[in-house]
Amino acid sequence: MAPSPVPSGCGVCGMAKQLILCTGCQAMPYCSQEHQDSHEAHKTACHDIQDLKRRIEMAQLQFQHGNRLVRYSLFANSRQYMDAHWAVFNSLGRVHCVQSLEAQLDHATHMLKSSFMESFDTASIIPEILLRLDRDQECYAFVRWWKTKQKQYQWDNADFPVLSSIEVDPLESVAYFGKGRNDVFHLTCVALLKVKLILDVLRLQQSTRTIGLRVPKEILDLINTYVPRSPIVSASRDLIYGSYKNRWILIAKLESQVKLLYQLILSADKNFWDDLMKTKQDLIRASPDPPVWGHTEVRALLLRRVCSACVEIPGTVDYIRALVMAVDSRR
Ligand SMILES: [Zn+2]
Ligand SMILES: [Zn+2]
Repeated sequence: MAPSPVPSGCGVCGMAKQLILCTGCQAMPYCSQEHQDSHEAHKTACHDIQDLKRRIEMAQLQFQHGNRLVRYSLFANSRQYMDAHWAVFNSLGRVHCVQSLEAQLDHATHMLKSSFMESFDTASIIPEILLRLDRDQECYAFVRWWKTKQKQYQWDNADFPVLSSIEVDPLESVAYFGKGRNDVFHLTCVALLKVKLILDVLRLQQSTRTIGLRVPKEILDLINTYVPRSPIVSASRDLIYGSYKNRWILIAKLESQVKLLYQLILSADKNFWDDLMKTKQDLIRASPDPPVWGHTEVRALLLRRVCSACVEIPGTVDYIRALVMAVDSRR
């Protein structure tokens, strides 16, 4: 599988072996204590995260019953607890690495389980994190579950699993989104996932065309296992060893699904794609939002995050820009 551009090695030297997590924030990896101590650029974000984590602990003490946390939405002071969680979640965004994304995922799933009131905002964010972690099957499974099975969620069961790789096919038709309400960010994540798959299959086509004639089939198959970024493609025997013609058929199918998702998103939020392309410029420098929640803020935060996902999947920004231009020219 092709590596993700999100760093996962030591925050100083990039080494990927025998890592320890920063003792302060538990979100930045280091190869040694020396490198952790010497990493000045990390210290401000690290201290902020530690301070905010203490706020969670303080707020938590107010409504813990024995070892069991009770549903926060029943408590007037749950706002403080959830705000503290959001604040930690946002401050983790300042630490750019895989481990920090994993910590954000932990916070998001915890928040999802903790409060029914907050669940729609936190559920919006979860597939985007999974996509950026290349946990593509889980990303799709979560969206599919939220759209079709959410009513079965057991809000009072803290052990109820929200993440799983349930047997759903990410290549399947997206027609089921045509009915009922949709979460725009879920639609976007599925669109981005499908674009990721298209780009991967196109790369397989390119590698087959350019080196396929010069090397034996076994060597080509081996090379092709390293070409895709998505584990869905790299694990698929049908795609890696499949025929050139069948791959084109799949690309055409996925492209028509992306167009449908594009239109569904446009009809739910007519400025979405234009804003997504605009936000791209300042996305890396954008400071995290303070934890003020309401539709506009959530939308802005999620747009910035989706931008990061686009940038981290090479080729996606150009693909979407071409799609926006094609639709504009038909208006
Ligand atoms: Zn190091
Ligand atoms: Zn730290």
